[in-house]
Order: sequence, then C-alpha cells, then structure tokens
Amino acid sequence: MTVDLSNARILISNDDGIHAPGIKVLERIALELSTDVWVVAPETEQSAAGHSLTIRRPLRVREYGDRRFSVDGTPTDAVLLGVNTVIKGKRPDLVLSGVNRGANLGEDVTYSGTVAAAMEAVILGIPAFAFSQCVLNGGEPYWRTAERWAPQIIRQALAVDWGPNILINVNFPDCPPDRVTGIEVTRQGKRKIGDELVERLDPRGEPYIWIGAQRSEDSSEPGTDIEAAYRGAVAVTPLRVDLTDHPAMSLLAGAFAL
Ligand code: MN
Repeated sequence: MTVDLSNARILISNDDGIHAPGIKVLERIALELSTDVWVVAPETEQSAAGHSLTIRRPLRVREYGDRRFSVDGTPTDAVLLGVNTVIKGKRPDLVLSGVNRGANLGEDVTYSGTVAAAMEAVILGIPAFAFSQCVLNGGEPYWRTAERWAPQIIRQALAVDWGPNILINVNFPDCPPDRVTGIEVTRQGKRKIGDELVERLDPRGEPYIWIGAQRSEDSSEPGTDIEAAYRGAVAVTPLRVDLTDHPAMSLLAGAFAL
C-alpha cells in the first residue's frame, strides 16, 4: 500500500458536507502533498451516517468547479462514486476524509461517516485516512492543529506498508498546534458509557426523544485513542475493516465441536 506522494492523485471527502470548514482545511493539507487533489463530498451534512449506502433512490452529482463535486448522498456514496464515475482516468492513489468537526474516538468510529468514507476507500483497495479535530467543550475547533500536524502524519505513516483493509483514524487534540504533546499510536478506546437521551414535548404537546451529543466517557485507560487525545496528543489508530475476532472464533469453534 505504499504511495508515491509526489504525483499522487488524492481524493478528499467528509461527512460534514462539501461546504464545511473542515474540508477546506483538508484541501490545504492535501495540496501540501500533491497538486492532483479532487473533492467528492456529500452535498449536505451526514454526520453519524456510518457506512450507509443509498440504494432506494438515484444519486445526483453536482459540479462546483475544477475537480470539485458533491453527491446528494452519504460519505460512502461520495467515495464510491468519486472513485468509480466522477474521477475519469487515473484512479485515486490516496483518500483523505475530514477534517471532521469533533472527535471520532472509541466506538464512535462505528457511527462515524468520516471513518466510513475512509473505510469505503480501503474496501475499494485505496489507502485512506480519517481526520477529526476534537472539540471537547464547544467553541471553535482548532483547525490549525489539524492543518499543522496532518501532512507529516500522512508522510510518516505512508513510509511503512501497513497492509490492505486497514484505515488510519487520526484525532487531533483540542488545543493549539504548539501545545500538542506528540503523535501516539493508540487502540480504540471505550466511549459510550451512557447516552443522554432527552425526552420532551414538542410545541403541539407530542413527545419526542433527541439523542444527545454529550456522553460520559472514560479517558483514563492508557493506550487508548481517548486517553491520548484528551491528554493533548494526536491519536493515530489503525482500524481493520475485517471485524472478525480470532480468539472468539477459536472458542466458538470449540463450542460447536462439542
Ligand atoms: Mn461530522
């Protein structure tokens, strides 16, 4: 999966939509690496869309300019169409997703459209990174932190061949670039301890439930993406698309052999 960045074709997507500030940040990051940068991103915000694919209605591609397109679907749709129909000629060598507004840590990666866009690229055989800028207490994201640290992370990671069917999930800490303590390779932590479900009545007196954005989480577990990002490090987590658990496979095989 090694990539020669000097003449690499880079496809950018996200889940916050083509008009989000984070994708402009990612375009600048990509342009530091190569001049052949394409954007194919969802028309509207698709956060928490996960790896969903639109199959019950047609998809429309809209051209915004040179190498800049939107798809009125999910992040997965955008990457699939970007690779197979929108970009003519040479296939992308690298897919970058983000920069997401907000973290994608712990099992939030399974809800994340940002991670899913990278996952789709990996399934299509293209190396991919997902980038998220953590925002812990509201306020404006430190986009400069992602912009400052992402190019070297891409370059350094691509110096090794990490193999197929793996995407690299990167979370930048919620601090200015010069306060970052370093780059740490981490494992997926545990985030969801309890959802905040808000139950209220709408203006017509009908009940509704809103899934809250705030979650309690354990940021103390060493070696996890959550612990590292909360402490001020860039958390780099390789994620496998193959979700098989091999120890459980052996145990189950034993159980069914009885
Ligand atoms: Mn998002």
